[in-house]
Amino acid sequence: NRRPAANSVVRPDFKFEDLGIGGLDKEFSDIFRRAFASRIVPPGLAEKIGIQHVRGILLYGPPGTGKTLIARQIGKMLNAREPKVINGPEVLNKYVGQSEENIRKLFADAEKEQKEKGDDSELHIIIFDELDAVCKQRGSGAGGGTGVGDSVVNQLLSKLDGVEQLNNILLIGMTNRKDMIDEALLRAGRLEVHMEISLPDEHGRQQILTIHTAKMRENGKLAADVDLAELAHLTRNFSGAELMGLVKSSTSFALQRHIKGGSVAALTDDVGDMQIRMEDFLRALEEVHPLFGVSEEDLE
Ligand code: ATP
Repeated sequence: NRRPAANSVVRPDFKFEDLGIGGLDKEFSDIFRRAFASRIVPPGLAEKIGIQHVRGILLYGPPGTGKTLIARQIGKMLNAREPKVINGPEVLNKYVGQSEENIRKLFADAEKEQKEKGDDSELHIIIFDELDAVCKQRGSGAGGGTGVGDSVVNQLLSKLDGVEQLNNILLIGMTNRKDMIDEALLRAGRLEVHMEISLPDEHGRQQILTIHTAKMRENGKLAADVDLAELAHLTRNFSGAELMGLVKSSTSFALQRHIKGGSVAALTDDVGDMQIRMEDFLRALEEVHPLFGVSEEDLE
């Protein structure tokens, strides 16, 4: 029952449907194959065929499409440790003067564990959100002329290159601007697997809406007239996060109707007979708009 977790083990109870990710099954399985398949190979076989694990991936695409969600769920699925999350702008602002130290710290636990446990070390996932922020002005004094961006990128490079023996690290960089990412970071052995996570198509939108209304449905709070297929059709260019916003907004309309009908005091734990109806979603559609807009043409 030895668990070679620098390799890792997919949880036996794993089901894609349980991950709460809508519309990204193809992306998810591609990332899995390209970046993680090597980690579920038994160590003996891995040695025989000289498998090198991928240590860095880049997820890119518009905001709110589920990049962070995927990164976190991959960690859960592989039974990895709770990922460490770091954010580009935060690094630039907060850590002026000590950015290198902070990057070093991010990798320290994994390094220590690898030394102590070798191949029995767990997989450590580091999520670097808004990676473009530290890359933007590399070479021209990043971070508003402080040069912090430079040193963060350099430190990342040195950590990624230095982890020759570190099989237990996976760095997941995320960005809305792949064009801003320093090319040096994208080379083989660094953030070498690149995956675009784009806006969901109609089918994906319906799945996302289904996920974000699941609790309401379970508790009988979703009226029978709510047509998620129709809503998916009407929400072209909505990201996952915007669809979640739509559900929130429609809930607020349903609550408003309920409060008007009775009194605020009438809101008990089960919110009485409140139900979210199709009309609430349609009103919400007038209030929540996608970042990338919807044209009349889109709705034909
Ligand atoms: P950013 O580029 O702004 O960091 P992101 O792509 O990392 O955005 P997330 O943080 O993963 O986006 O998405 C925000 C929230 O929107 C998620 O926590 C989730 O609730 C919802 N969401 C986004 N995409 C999906 C999806 N494909 N399926 C289900 N929920 C989603």
